[in-house]
Amino acid sequence: MAATKLSGSDPSPQPGDHILIIGAGITGLTLAQALRKRNSENPSAAPIHFSIYERDEHALARGAGWALSLHWALGQFTALLPQELVQRLPEALVDPDSAARGELGNFRLFNLQTGKDDFMTPPSDSPRNRFSREKLRRLLMDGLDIHWSKNLETIDYPKQGEVVAQFSDGTSATGTILVGCDGSRSQVRRVLCPANYENNVVPIRLLGVTAPYSPERCKPIQALDRYFFQCCDPATDTFMFYGFLNVPTLKEQDATTETLPITCQVLTSWPCRPGFMGKDEVTEVPVENNDRLMLMKSISAGWVEPFKQLVHDIPDTAEVKVVNLEDWPPQKGAWNNREGRVTLIGDAAHAMTMYRGEAANHGIADVRVFLEQFVPGEGEALKSKIDAYEVEMIERTRPAVLRSRKACLHAHDYASVTDQSPLIARRAIVADDED
Ligand SMILES: Cc1cc2nc3c(=O)[nH]c(=O)nc-3n(C[C@H](O)[C@H](O)[C@H](O)COP(=O)(O)OP(=O)(O)OC[C@H]3O[C@@H](n4cnc5c(N)ncnc54)[C@H](O)[C@@H]3O)c2cc1C
Repeated sequence: MAATKLSGSDPSPQPGDHILIIGAGITGLTLAQALRKRNSENPSAAPIHFSIYERDEHALARGAGWALSLHWALGQFTALLPQELVQRLPEALVDPDSAARGELGNFRLFNLQTGKDDFMTPPSDSPRNRFSREKLRRLLMDGLDIHWSKNLETIDYPKQGEVVAQFSDGTSATGTILVGCDGSRSQVRRVLCPANYENNVVPIRLLGVTAPYSPERCKPIQALDRYFFQCCDPATDTFMFYGFLNVPTLKEQDATTETLPITCQVLTSWPCRPGFMGKDEVTEVPVENNDRLMLMKSISAGWVEPFKQLVHDIPDTAEVKVVNLEDWPPQKGAWNNREGRVTLIGDAAHAMTMYRGEAANHGIADVRVFLEQFVPGEGEALKSKIDAYEVEMIERTRPAVLRSRKACLHAHDYASVTDQSPLIARRAIVADDED
């Protein structure tokens, strides 16, 4: 990787291209690792310099995080990474033993009144893996020199062929292209599209908990699925997602006399509309943790077992987190890439709700397409290359954002769920826009 090009006053760019990556989430880190791989595999070519800037203070600044499935983009992901990281990917799996046995999970949707699994999402053609997002992030940080506590504030273009990232601590960094990988509430997007950067708020609210359970308690849940399942309540239009974040391996369990707990995640969501569960006013997310937990338990009160008890077993000490259900369908012409000096990747470009679980898959595809287009030393041709990246990315992800929104709404209107619903349909790239 290139030397750091941070400066408080006088940035002096190195010759050649230098990519400024803003954000060390899954997509920013994947882009950095892919560049690292490209540089090491082409020792005779001039290296593509890059630097990565993250507003968090350090690698462990985040909590446990959620789990995520890589399915149709898993092959693209492994092709982008250096081989030594591909070999270490099992370290980041939620259940390495089940994955090693070839168990993929069944992606079932249960009816919370009957307890029956009414639907099953057909598997993608490609293999899939379920990861702990934070373990995966930490693995992807390996070998990278991340600049922490660098909160991008604004972007300048002082002269042709240069872009400058200005950070809130008064420092700056100069490069030839800046890539905004800074997530669903992206500051890069805000700078690029001041009039239309804001996400749409979907009229659904969600609370989620991460909590440890004994292996004994988890056995009947794992019998439903080794990884996760979804549930809908036709009576109240509520929804539950249940999944495992960390299942200790047999080897880890054998190495200790203590019983290692299994970390589980319970997410419940409900429609934010008058009339929900007989109340005239809309049910908003409570402020206090205890009230949030009580709300999760009250909306599950009429669910059939074993699902109701999964919510009622959440310990009182658990921290209840809010996931904001927001999206941003990208549109052609929504931003000016300034002669190819700036663009967006991942949630920054196409924030979507997670009811189809494919936002990170699209972020990885973005990285692949971006790198196919980005050829070092392109100079003025850079604009047409970045235009081409953006055209493909927007055509692929705009329908995905809209389908995820529809899946989210269907999850809270069980009468609308069919095999064709985006909530159920196979996870794959689709071409339709107005779904
Ligand atoms: C509950 C849940 C379940 C999900 N399940 C799945 C799934 O199964 N499959 C799937 O494909 N996707 C899933 N997703 C979506 C997936 O997690 C995201 O698409 C993915 O993590 C986005 O990665 P990113 O790198 O684009 O953004 P982020 O992960 O949001 O990373 C952005 C980074 O930029 C940093 N940053 C922000 N602003 C600045 C700034 N101004 N300056 C510098 N740095 C900044 C942030 O601190 C962060 O580290 C799920 C999401 C949720 C919430």
